[in-house]
Amino acid sequence: MRPHEAAVLRDIVLVGGGHSHVGVLRAFAMRPVPGVRITLVCTDAHTPYSGMLPGYVAGHYGYDDVHIDLSRLAVFARARFICAEVTGLDRAQRTVLLRDRPPLHYDLVSINIGSTPQVQMVPGAARHAVAVKPIYQFNQRWLALRERISAHPGRNTIAVVGGGAGGVELTLAMQYALQAVLREQGRDIGDLVFHLFTADATILPTHNRAVQRRFDAVLAQRGVLVHRDCAVDEVQAKRLRTRNGQWVEVDEVVWVTQAGGAPWLRETGLALDERGFIRVNDFLQSVSDERVFAVGDIASMDSRALEKAGVFAVRMAAPLTRNLRRSLSSQALVPYRPQRRWLALISTGDRYAVASRGALSFAGSWVWRWKDWIDRRFMRRFEAFPAMDNNNPLIGNTSTLALSAEESLQAASLLAMRCGGCGAKVGASVLSGALAGLVPVAREDVIIGLHAPDDAAIVRVPPGMALVHTVDFFRSFVDDPYVFGQIAANHALGDIFAMGATAQSATAIATVPPGLEDQVEDTLRQMMSGAVKALDAAGCALVGGHSGEGSELALGFAVNGLVDASLQGVMRKCGMRAGELLILTKPLGTGTLFAAHARLAARGRWIQAALVSMCQSNQAGAQVLKEHGATACTDLTGFGLLGHLVEMTRPSGVDARVDLSALPLLAGAQECVAQGIVSSLQAANLRLRQSLRNQESFLAHPRYPLLFDPQTAGGLLASVPAERAPACVAALQAAGYTHAAVIGMVLEQDAASTSIVLAD
Ligand SMILES: Cc1cc2nc3c(=O)[nH]c(=O)nc-3n(C[C@H](O)[C@H](O)[C@H](O)COP(=O)(O)OP(=O)(O)OC[C@H]3O[C@@H](n4cnc5c(N)ncnc54)[C@H](O)[C@@H]3O)c2cc1C
Repeated sequence: MRPHEAAVLRDIVLVGGGHSHVGVLRAFAMRPVPGVRITLVCTDAHTPYSGMLPGYVAGHYGYDDVHIDLSRLAVFARARFICAEVTGLDRAQRTVLLRDRPPLHYDLVSINIGSTPQVQMVPGAARHAVAVKPIYQFNQRWLALRERISAHPGRNTIAVVGGGAGGVELTLAMQYALQAVLREQGRDIGDLVFHLFTADATILPTHNRAVQRRFDAVLAQRGVLVHRDCAVDEVQAKRLRTRNGQWVEVDEVVWVTQAGGAPWLRETGLALDERGFIRVNDFLQSVSDERVFAVGDIASMDSRALEKAGVFAVRMAAPLTRNLRRSLSSQALVPYRPQRRWLALISTGDRYAVASRGALSFAGSWVWRWKDWIDRRFMRRFEAFPAMDNNNPLIGNTSTLALSAEESLQAASLLAMRCGGCGAKVGASVLSGALAGLVPVAREDVIIGLHAPDDAAIVRVPPGMALVHTVDFFRSFVDDPYVFGQIAANHALGDIFAMGATAQSATAIATVPPGLEDQVEDTLRQMMSGAVKALDAAGCALVGGHSGEGSELALGFAVNGLVDASLQGVMRKCGMRAGELLILTKPLGTGTLFAAHARLAARGRWIQAALVSMCQSNQAGAQVLKEHGATACTDLTGFGLLGHLVEMTRPSGVDARVDLSALPLLAGAQECVAQGIVSSLQAANLRLRQSLRNQESFLAHPRYPLLFDPQTAGGLLASVPAERAPACVAALQAAGYTHAAVIGMVLEQDAASTSIVLAD
């Protein structure tokens, strides 16, 4: 028996990576609450900081200057990051509903999802206008718009609908950026015509007269045609109609008008205001559910109407953090008192800005520099993190948490010495709850499986077939249990597909960190749902398993596959022939990327792309390789490219050449190894460099370390007759392996033992 280190007693789920939640995560990172697990769910790994968005559009900032990397921030906060879309709340079950994956348990949930454009209220707007919200998708929409203007010769007319600070700033920033594009192309900037439509009598209606006058002057001087008292009531392709019936010919319409709450909120039963925003009290708590908090644009305070501005969302982070902490221990909550006046620094696109505060206004290039300084200082808080010791936020004195009598009993047993042996099994009710919704694929050859649970599963081997056995197991290296489940299953299935077999059945072995029953059940459900998704897609029935408590989340599978008993169609490692070409189906780099992720040195988008690659099955790839006459095949896992290649060349009695420049790499992999960040397994893999014939010339090559990078759920490496290789790569790419490439050639063996030659 051993004492337990960490137990999950409470779950806080942060929905949306808005301006408040980034502050909450940072605050919890600095001062975690023992026993509390935080999960951030957001549609994107990078969230834009609205204050710098116009500067980004104008071209003064790069993408990473204005986006907060949520995946990296979550690592710093030791929070789980789930890149997914929230589609609802089941308040009775206390779960957050997610698109295409199982619901997520919460004890407290906070919503910071910004606002949603109300384009559906104006006919044609949803179809023909470029909406600035949701803000996370705006980058793609803006880049696409810039591309269209760049490719459209002659006159381009752009209409911006919305005369608030966002609309005015965006108009001027877009004009600045697009004029630069036209100048670069040697075109006349007079070909760019901007219209700004506002339903109000003035632009910037929430700002003082002096600010309005300054912007009237700037817009006039920059030739922007401002239409006041002119609501747009219909949009069609290439034209829009104003309320007074006038049609205006336009090439682009950008929609920056007042927005509302996300439609899914209506199904939650939460009290909403007339625009669909969540009504909150002074504690930023839903007026209809004390477990639900809302902040930023999506919140509507009952006591005071606030402008929908990022500045409030930022300020709400501290009171929200305080109230989440207090809620956990049933302490009285503290009201949030929004400032009466706030400073807005509104830019004009050309490194010039106007300050607005109450009745005050001033302007200048220095105001822009000041704004730039404030904004960059804000962003640094989420870029450069203070050094923290490695304390696990789940460890420590959990006595401050308010628990029910039943939960206190469970918690006391978690803190006591925990049993080993069968005493460490996950409880029966937790297990059945977690597995209840799983639907393993039904197969006729599964006689006794999870549909009729027994002491063991019974599976028939069809006549004329032989069984292929394999087993894999590893601890989680990602904080999202659903994605981890998919990857673990995919990784285990990789051996079956690499042999040219079809997957038949699997048994799982899992360890889950201790916690209250709800928390453990949720983790197990997430992980096994992910695993079953991958197994089902492969036609592989999950027929049983075993789960126990462990200090870390871990999952493995014993998988059975089937091949023809004559071994026809089997792809072994030993069949390579000189002259054949080496094909790799997926990009390399998972080892270095996840080592960098743990050290806060990887970008969130690199990690998300790597996860997508790891979740891609090798099933279709193996089929394509088989159809193109592959003579040998293996799946890339822990030993890295070189290790697995040598495992193929040795029994085949051949040498091989690897073209470093042809290696497909995951985004960011080369940057990570350039920083000297490698997986802990790299050192062991490096021993295989003795098999390299000419490594001296390549030691400094930027891709050299990636030869030894251990892969999780990596691609297939195969040897294919040279004449069939181009068609094979094309077929692999068509099947979704977009990085598939020829990476070298099989050579005659030159010396007594096999060797690998590097080329550039
Ligand atoms: C061009 C422009 C310039 C602006 N400039 C300023 C400015 O200078 N100063 C200022 O104070 N305000 C400014 N604003 C207003 C500002 O954009 C908003 O007030 C601010 O973004 C609101 O922040 P938020 O935290 O509520 O939400 P957001 O910043 O919109 O963040 C919402 C987050 O939730 C995520 N999300 C949304 N839906 C879901 C879902 N269903 N599931 C999971 N995740 C989800 C999104 O990916 C995003 O990460 C500007 C607005 C515009 C349009």
